[in-house]
Amino acid sequence: MAKMLIGGELVDAQGGKTIDVKNPANGEVVGSIPRGSTADVDAAVEAARKALPGWAATSGTKRAQLMHQAAIKMHEAVDEVAKLLALEQGKPLAHAKIEAARVAENLEYFAGLADKLRGDYVPLDDPAKFGITIRRPVGVVAAITPWNFPLTLFANKLCPALAAGCTVVLKPASTTPLATQRAIEAINSAGFPAGVINTLHGSGAEVGDALVGHPKVNKIAFTGQTETGKRIMQLAAKNVTRVTLELGGSDPMIVADDADVRRATAAAAIGRFFNAGQACLAVKRIYLFEKIAEEFMAKFTERATKEWKIGEQFAADTKMGPLHTEHQRAEVEAQVADAVKRGAKVLAGGKRPEGAEYAKGWFYPATVLTDVPEDSRMATEEVFGPAVPVFIVKDLDEAIVKANSSIYGLGSSIFTKDFAKARRAAEQLDAGYTWVNDIQVAYDQLPFGGAKQSGFGKEHGIEALESYTEKKSVVLAG
Ligand code: NAD
Repeated sequence: MAKMLIGGELVDAQGGKTIDVKNPANGEVVGSIPRGSTADVDAAVEAARKALPGWAATSGTKRAQLMHQAAIKMHEAVDEVAKLLALEQGKPLAHAKIEAARVAENLEYFAGLADKLRGDYVPLDDPAKFGITIRRPVGVVAAITPWNFPLTLFANKLCPALAAGCTVVLKPASTTPLATQRAIEAINSAGFPAGVINTLHGSGAEVGDALVGHPKVNKIAFTGQTETGKRIMQLAAKNVTRVTLELGGSDPMIVADDADVRRATAAAAIGRFFNAGQACLAVKRIYLFEKIAEEFMAKFTERATKEWKIGEQFAADTKMGPLHTEHQRAEVEAQVADAVKRGAKVLAGGKRPEGAEYAKGWFYPATVLTDVPEDSRMATEEVFGPAVPVFIVKDLDEAIVKANSSIYGLGSSIFTKDFAKARRAAEQLDAGYTWVNDIQVAYDQLPFGGAKQSGFGKEHGIEALESYTEKKSVVLAG
């Protein structure tokens, strides 16, 4: 059984309860975690608070050294962590390895910034005085992460927090805690002082709520559903705790009449079907100019049917594992059924795969739909699975209006050879990211975060550090 890391010790829940973790490919129990309660929340937050002054006062150079060492430890643990991730989450092992390795890369990136945080010199009107700004860590950070990319998403919070001198209480999703716990133990073995990094396991409603509402938490870094984000914002208001919210998305992809269609279909397929479509940044609505629509749909449908082999996560030829939970598959099925009932045509997929190997898991195939009503669930909600609606538009004006009609604003993309079209899309799409002729990959170096109901605040980039530090003004008089 996995444990929680609290104050440098690996511990069980104080109430002694546990939660089973299951393999989405066959429902088998693959491990268990402590089921934390409010007493465990208090213990974890107290440990983080106690460690804060020492960690905040540790030099940037020393923090960077420990983080570089942690990256080495994480690299050494990649195979073990990736196996746990594939087992509990359902993604193919090869993809789990990429994700585990990304944690080490993220540690390296922010280790490189830990000793470069600094303030400003500010001349004042009075010549006998001057102002400076200094950066202080915001304090104890509650990092709350979802199940779709559990490792990448905890790293996006832990790494800038550590670099800035904050201490952390990390609560992973209760269905994907094992890989996170193992990765944290590897990172912590680099020699971080007790209490700098803590983990807490349990249900969102129980430990999540208590953590968010805890008076000694200074910042909440949350990734998850928009509805949960709204609840967190409300709970955080009680103590005026600062929040960053990385929430749901429904990224539009525009394919113009002059696009390289082969390249666009390759990007759309990865953008939609990677991780069985369970990605926040993902191609979730496709807008095709009339001239290339038929060619795109034919090529894209072929990719969906032939290239995205479904299977269990450890088979070498699997490109798409099962969906993570029964609920998740039922949700996608209901969204597809709603569109079909209202006149949509299924170009690929659309029904569960048959065969004994799929009988016990939550498998669903790569699915492409056309003639989808624009007010149907597939067009207006986030589709968190491998299904995508394709729409036809007459020009860029219509494409941009429709792309922006969503309540979400996370990612977006355009495929075109026309620089003017690319520039308009970049300037006018309401989203935190626009890719031009490229697939939806978030880079460590570029700030990432949503607009509208996709949330606010940035992860990645130098900008991420800003939300883990507080700029303080100081006036110096002689
Ligand atoms: P979720 O909101 O159900 O859960 C996320 C985390 O919040 C889990 O750890 C959960 O236990 C916790 N939680 C649940 N209720 C809570 C509460 N009341 N108080 C505190 N914590 C609580 O999300 P999910 O289903 O695990 O993840 C999928 C969603 O995450 C999708 O909407 C997806 O788009 C979004 N997501 C966004 C990004 C991004 O960067 N914008 C990245 C990945 C996933």
